Amino acid sequence: MLELRGITKNYIVGDAKQKILKGIDINFRESEFAAILGPSGSGKTTLLNIIGGLDDYSSGDLKINEVSTKRYRDKDWDAYRNHRIGFVFQSYNLIPHQTVLANVKLALTLSGISKREATRRARKALEDVGLKEHTDKKPAQLSGGQMQRVAIARALVNDPDILLADEPTGALDSATSIQIMDLLHEIAKKKLVIMVTHNPDLADKYASRIITLKDGKITSDSDPYDGKRKTNLNTEEAARKQHKTRMSFFTALGLSLKNLLTKKGRTILVAFAGSIGIIGIALILAVSSGFQAYIDQVQEDTLTSYPLAIMRESADVTSVLLNNLSDEDSIKDGKVHENQVLSSTLGSVVKNDIKDFQHFLREHWGEIKDDVRLLEDEYSVEPIIYSVDATGKLAQLNPNNMFSSVLGGSQLISSYTSVYKQYERENMEQDFKVLAGRLPEQYNEVVVVLSQEGKIGDLLTYELGLHDTDELNTIISKLMAGETVEVKNEPLVLTYEDIMNIKLKLLYAADIYKYNPDYNIYEDMRSNEKYMQELYDNAEQLKIVGVTTPRDSLMSLSGVAYLPELVTHIIEKSADTEIVKKQLENPEIDVFSNTKFGEEGSGYDFSLQDLVTVDQNKIASAVKVDIDKNAIAAKTHEYIEQISGDITADTSPVYD
Ligand code: ADP
Ligand code: MG
Repeated sequence: MLELRGITKNYIVGDAKQKILKGIDINFRESEFAAILGPSGSGKTTLLNIIGGLDDYSSGDLKINEVSTKRYRDKDWDAYRNHRIGFVFQSYNLIPHQTVLANVKLALTLSGISKREATRRARKALEDVGLKEHTDKKPAQLSGGQMQRVAIARALVNDPDILLADEPTGALDSATSIQIMDLLHEIAKKKLVIMVTHNPDLADKYASRIITLKDGKITSDSDPYDGKRKTNLNTEEAARKQHKTRMSFFTALGLSLKNLLTKKGRTILVAFAGSIGIIGIALILAVSSGFQAYIDQVQEDTLTSYPLAIMRESADVTSVLLNNLSDEDSIKDGKVHENQVLSSTLGSVVKNDIKDFQHFLREHWGEIKDDVRLLEDEYSVEPIIYSVDATGKLAQLNPNNMFSSVLGGSQLISSYTSVYKQYERENMEQDFKVLAGRLPEQYNEVVVVLSQEGKIGDLLTYELGLHDTDELNTIISKLMAGETVEVKNEPLVLTYEDIMNIKLKLLYAADIYKYNPDYNIYEDMRSNEKYMQELYDNAEQLKIVGVTTPRDSLMSLSGVAYLPELVTHIIEKSADTEIVKKQLENPEIDVFSNTKFGEEGSGYDFSLQDLVTVDQNKIASAVKVDIDKNAIAAKTHEYIEQISGDITADTSPVYD
């Protein structure tokens, strides 16, 4: 899980370059107790600080979970230090005027959890190191060994994967040292513990692996590790394993939305959301489980920083959080107090004057540009993208409805599962490495973004039409009905050419609705195959001009990136259409259904098709050829249903 490759460290002192580490190669296991032994000045502390991200290396590479840290940015290092690493030093570094409990809790201040939860975790960590009875004492009232235990509890309270200890027993007598070593030995059963020491006896007795360092080089390693798994799965086994994980992905999606809101379901959904970069799901979950859980999930599960977004409408989350975090103990007065999370959240929704603010930012750009990396406008306009899928049928790829059977097919949800995303040109240059082709230059050009390993996820291949686009929904529906499903797609292998040859076409919403002069309404033509095929044939192509991979290991975008120019283009073009103009001229009337907005009674509460009967004999005599009467009747009903559906849509539309 941790791999050092040719790590060197030089210090420049005056004019001289001092080589402290001269090419260190080590691979650590997920859990082991490794002791680094060596004389004073051999570079042990320097090495440990590099492993913990406290110091940078001069050359070589440190790989964390097989990912190189060469391109780590500050935020990646922060995430690594804050969530993966715990430090214990020779000097305990405790704050003298704070209690033991407060010292441990301090390590949790940045993690965003509530005070109550922080207290609970700190008590648990102190109990784990055998200090249950001493939580309210000040450090000075403890022995050296006890103070070091406090430091260990503090390092463990964030539940890191790796514990780094620099001469933890350096200031302790031998009896106390043994207790600390016992504790570290216990911890190393579940975590990677790397301890620097100059005491070979202690290392020998307690550590599972001894690495000796001399003059900046490794001179021995008692239990080297090559980074490979102990058992090599043969290919058949590997294939079965892969199959299994694929199935569990689909099973996860097969849970109903209600199930997803249970704790286990939520974990799966957040994992799913994180894996395809749709952290917005967490916001939806927040409504059901409270904002505290939202903060926890975002902090613990994603660790990635997201841009500051200013929306047209926003809720004052801060006040809700503060209200929720207050330490007030209402148990004291023996009464149950209502915690008004929902009403205060809903009550704090405000409208922002985005237009003026946008204008203001542009006007004062000179003054703010040093503090802002990039300013990006987002409109709630999603390009409508169609393609011919693997089965040869016309398919709407974006906004997608491939998960409609589990997620209800709402526009909101589909925007979170979409792999088509807007990306500023400047950001593309910074974030993407071009593997083939080039980056887009204009509105009708896009790039495909692969994973960092250059792979293409199956969510993306589905949304590029490389499989049967109905398949996901079919599978999920079956799973929800309790049937078992075998997913037997062979994994695709594609060339960059193949990807750039995928034909995506841009459709405009205005073209999808066709004017019906008889009823003075606009019909949704999406279910009319012939109409859509013609529209598709004449539509303009969105050219995939390049294949790229993200530079940043923590960036989870993988999909299709388009320029903001595409959205502006769609907006401009739409403004020029008949239906939009007509709507703008008649703000009272919903031009789709030719009814007044907001009039509840304007929606019909009967079904049009119930009023119509089809006289099959009349049809037969009119057409005078041998026809399937039932089929005609069914088609006619379908057509009426379609029109009546447009008029009597059950969500009430608004002018905005
Ligand atoms: P150890 O922990 O094994 O005693 P260190 O890693 O602390 O050794 O130090 C190794 C060498 O690097 C020492 O010679 C020390 O003087 C030197 N060194 C450590 N930090 C710096 C620094 N910031 N600038 C210059 N030299 C340093
Ligand atoms: Mg040292």
